[in-house]
Amino acid sequence: MTDDQQLRVSKIKNGTVIDHIAGGQALNVLAILGIDGGSGDALSVAMNVPSDRLGKKDIVKIEGRELSQAEVDVLSLIAPAASINIVREYDVVEKHRVERPEVVEGVLECPNHNCISTKDEPVESRFAVTDDGVRCEYCETIIRDDLPAHILVE
Ligand SMILES: [Zn+2]
Repeated sequence: MTDDQQLRVSKIKNGTVIDHIAGGQALNVLAILGIDGGSGDALSVAMNVPSDRLGKKDIVKIEGRELSQAEVDVLSLIAPAASINIVREYDVVEKHRVERPEVVEGVLECPNHNCISTKDEPVESRFAVTDDGVRCEYCETIIRDDLPAHILVE
């Protein structure tokens, strides 16, 4: 790791740094993780940082919180190139690449208004992740583009 990279990921004491988010997607990453200013998490977001790999990238740092594997999985839907750094006492103790999950539950809203998962009944949305999008497991509706627009807002 270069000094520059080390500097960027080691500024928080304990928490998670999500690096290599495609430029402009940081706020969608926060939305998909259900993180906002009201949750009390200390956040810092860097947007459109020059990146060799991505052209421009975003970086999100969440103080005092380590992402769960389930949270890392859903990240892959909108940030497939992201890397996750778990920081403790200013040191990166774990580094993960995101992996696409087979199924995401309760994260996205089905665009089909007749779908059982969009009714008032307590049915959590459930989408199978495919190579080119996600498919509702109740009504087979496929979402290919603009996944962040379908993120469930609590
Ligand atoms: Zn559906």
